[in-house]
Amino acid sequence: MERTFVMVKPDGVMRQLTGEIIAGLERKGFKLVAMKMLKMDTALAERHYAEHMGKAFFPGLVEFITSGPVVAMVWEGPNVVKGVRDLMGATNPAEALPGTIRGNLAVTISRNVIHGSDSVESAEREIALYFKPEEILVYDRPADAWLMEK
Ligand code: UDP
Ligand code: MG
Repeated sequence: MERTFVMVKPDGVMRQLTGEIIAGLERKGFKLVAMKMLKMDTALAERHYAEHMGKAFFPGLVEFITSGPVVAMVWEGPNVVKGVRDLMGATNPAEALPGTIRGNLAVTISRNVIHGSDSVESAEREIALYFKPEEILVYDRPADAWLMEK
């Protein structure tokens, strides 16, 4: 089953949006299989956002993402990588559609409350940055039978 890495960023935690964000992904039908709260250090932030190193927004991004607690999660489900990206909405909340997390809950690109992996390959890399394999749980939900055919 496909997995993705999702993170409530410091603005989401401080604005007390963690529960709402998790509830939205649960209601969709995706399965939460790992979760932890942490404060990222600069080294982890630079590894997480390595693809953006050298860009003008990079120093501000690293400062912001290390400024407070984040909630790191692994979610599982059919096409969960694209599914979460679609639920998140565009990177810039000004362009994110109403109904999406960023469209509903954020106003500027540098404070857009949530991260989600952009591909299956990115998801594998990012999950490994935050979780050991044994921290990702395998369990059945009774609701699975009502969400998908065997
Ligand atoms: N970001 C920013 N300014 C920009 C572009 C990006 O502050 O001009 C931040 C923003 O928090 C974004 C993150 O950098 O979520 C990573 O950028 P990316 O293009 O990968 O967007 P995402 O994958 O998060 O939608
Ligand atoms: Mg990205």
